[in-house]
Amino acid sequence: MLSTLIYRSRLCSAMRADDFDLLIRKARVRNASLNVTGILLFDGSHFVQLLEGPPQAVEALFDTIQRDPRHGSVVRLLRDQGPFRRFEGDQMAMIDLREFEAARVPSLILDKMKKQARLAASDDRVARILTWYALTRETRLIADGDDGAGWRFEADAALPEPGLGAEQAYQFALQPIVEPMRRVISSFEFLIRGPSGGSPQELFSSVPPDQRYRIDLESKASAFRLASRLHLDDIKLSVNLLPMSLVADPSAVDFLVEQIAGCGLSPRQVIVEITEEEAIVNQGDFGAAIERLRRAGIGVAIDDFGAGFAGLSLLADFQPDKLKIDRKIIQNIHSDGPRQAIVRAIVEVCAALGITPVAEGVERVQEWRWLQAAGVERFQGYLFARPALNGVPAVRWPRRSGGHRGS
Ligand code: C2E
Ligand code: MN
Ligand code: MN
Repeated sequence: MLSTLIYRSRLCSAMRADDFDLLIRKARVRNASLNVTGILLFDGSHFVQLLEGPPQAVEALFDTIQRDPRHGSVVRLLRDQGPFRRFEGDQMAMIDLREFEAARVPSLILDKMKKQARLAASDDRVARILTWYALTRETRLIADGDDGAGWRFEADAALPEPGLGAEQAYQFALQPIVEPMRRVISSFEFLIRGPSGGSPQELFSSVPPDQRYRIDLESKASAFRLASRLHLDDIKLSVNLLPMSLVADPSAVDFLVEQIAGCGLSPRQVIVEITEEEAIVNQGDFGAAIERLRRAGIGVAIDDFGAGFAGLSLLADFQPDKLKIDRKIIQNIHSDGPRQAIVRAIVEVCAALGITPVAEGVERVQEWRWLQAAGVERFQGYLFARPALNGVPAVRWPRRSGGHRGS
């Protein structure tokens, strides 16, 4: 069995030429003893390395590299199984990118490959990844966040819970969506809760299926009432609706508009997040409901983008104000090459379409730093605030700590 792994990283300490030679010589001895071959590209500040060998040896070596303080921002670009080694025998091949024009690098990489691999290279993902990173070095494509160490978080005060209004049939937990660099809350998401604070899943599974859409829609009246009692001022509020909750009842949008007005709110303060747990059955009716929301001045967001049905074809058919990137894509983004490539592309699509991207489920400082460097400015997640039942939670705002040397 042969596994292949490509990662990239940033050199953390300044290194003189002879230090570097020594590092390479030691690494070659270690790799040879593990029966690991491959190639290392270095441009003076970044590494891209391919490791190939027995799966356990490759994993163990990558583990060591991730813990090595000389490597920062270690990002896995590929993990694959392959039928044969691409690089020769007992030495780790090495290219110092500073010595060559970028355009020559692809052929240099090919020259180092075994003949069998060279012949297959034009269809080989491994060869393409190496070439891509060699050619795009020093560009925004390998820009990284910092490691998060230079930031500390300070919580502001939570607003006192107003107490459940007697007339409020449904409870909601509020979670802010924040713009940390401007230190503003852009909106609160109203997440429905069961009578004793249970999850949305619990609540919806406790009602008969044929009541689900009606309850989903009607519960929003409680959300608007809570919003008006909390005096959220200019902060927007997001509510979740299944697409079918907007379609099943032809007067659904009129109901929302009435309830919004009845609570003294403006439709422009409200965003409807479409949570697509099930395929949209009737495209025509769904499109018409979206148009009614737009005409009423209500904002629209695609929720959980990249999970389940909330994918590219929904985005191709209709362009929302906001695109919320699903937590599963955000998780560990700072060390995950495929996720980084996907999110960069989403950010670019959003920019071209005038859509605001929002990252969901941000839990780690490094995730936030990477996303911020990639151009995402709005965030939701436990890192900044957990949902608060019927109230406004404290937000943890990041601040640069003193003495940080920057990245
Ligand atoms: P969602 O709209 O994607 O809401 C975000 C969910 O992720 C919330 O779970 C929130 O508590 C959780 N979350 C936020 N930040 C983090 C984080 O950093 N890490 C982790 N692990 N989780 C985080 P919740 O409240 O259980 O809601 C689950 C889903 O239920 C929502 O996902 C939404 O799809 C649905 N939902 C909520 N309210 C309603 C509603 O009124 N109607 C409908 N149809 N669905 C709703
Ligand atoms: Mn949502
Ligand atoms: Mn979501």
